[in-house]
Amino acid sequence: MSHEVVVVGSVNADLVVGVDRWPGPGETVLGSDLATHPGGKGANQAVAAARLGGRVALLGRIGGDGHGDLLRGSLADAGVDLAHLLVTDAPTGVALITVGPDGDNTIIVSPGANAHLSEDDVAAARDLLAGATVVSFQLEVPRPTVLAAARTAAGGGARVVLNLSPAALVPDELLGLCDPLVVNEHEAAFLLPDHSAEDDPAALAAALRERGPRSVVITLGADGALVATGEETQVVPSPKVNPVDTTGAGDAFTAALCLRLARGDDLVTAARFAVRVGAAAVRKAGAQSSYPTGVDELPG
Ligand code: ADP
Repeated sequence: MSHEVVVVGSVNADLVVGVDRWPGPGETVLGSDLATHPGGKGANQAVAAARLGGRVALLGRIGGDGHGDLLRGSLADAGVDLAHLLVTDAPTGVALITVGPDGDNTIIVSPGANAHLSEDDVAAARDLLAGATVVSFQLEVPRPTVLAAARTAAGGGARVVLNLSPAALVPDELLGLCDPLVVNEHEAAFLLPDHSAEDDPAALAAALRERGPRSVVITLGADGALVATGEETQVVPSPKVNPVDTTGAGDAFTAALCLRLARGDDLVTAARFAVRVGAAAVRKAGAQSSYPTGVDELPG
C-alpha cells in the first residue's frame, strides 16, 4: 500500500551536555552526564506522523554505527517504514548540543551520512516518492537532493511540503512546488530581504506567496500559525499550554499538517490539528520523547 506521508530528510543523534558556562578557545570545562537522544528534522517528522497513526516512510541515510542503531530503533518503534533508510560509509549525523544554566544552548551539527543522500538515491526511490500522497522536506540534507526528490514527487502527483529549516536559499523552482511552504518568522524574513521577522505575519505570507509557493504556513510559537492560500489568510491559534521545552515542536507541527493533508483536510483544517500537536510537543522535554502517541493526548 502506498504511503500517506514520505519524509525525505535528516537523521541525527542529539548529544546533549549541560554546562555552567561555555569554554573559551583552548579552555576545558566539565559538563553534566551525556544524554543521547534520537533527532534530526527528518526522523523527528517521520516519528511524529507515524505515532499519530500515519502510514509513513523515511528516505534518509545513517552510518553503520551505534547512533544509526539508536535512530533505526526509534523510527521502527514508531512504525516508520525503513525500507529506504540507507546505510552509508560515514558516521551517522550528530548534533552536539550544550545547554547553559539559563536554558540557552549552542548547537553544532555534523551532517555525516545525511550529506550523502544523493540524487541517485532519489532515482532509486522514484516509486516511493511518486506514489506518496504527501512528501515532506526540510533542509538538513543536500539541496540538489531535495530539489530532485520534490520534482519526482510532484511529477507523480504527490503534494510537496517544505519546511525551510534551517533557513537557506533554494531555487524558485522548488518554492513553486510547495503547497505549503512552512516557515517560522525568522525563516520567512530570511527569504525576504525587504522584510524583518517582526513584520506582520500576514504581510510576510503575502510576500512569500509572490515567490511562488501555492500556499504558505508561518508558525508563530505560542500564537499558533498563520495560513495563507490563494483564497484566504487566517491565524489558527494554538491551545494554551505550559511550555517546558520547544525542541522539535516545529517538526511535530509539520508532520501533523502533512498527515492531515494526506487524509484530505484543507490547509486551515489541517493547521487546526497541527497546532494541537505542536502544543503537545512543548509540554515535555526533548523532541521525539515529547511527541503524542494518539489524539486523546492532544490539548485544545
Ligand atoms: P519552530 O520551532 O520551527 O520555530 P514554532 O516555535 O513556531 O516553530 O512552533 C511550532 C508550533 O508548535 C506552533 O505553531 C504551535 O502550534 C506550537 N508551539 C510552539 N510553542 C508553543 C507554546 N509556547 N505554546 C503552545 N504551542 C506552541
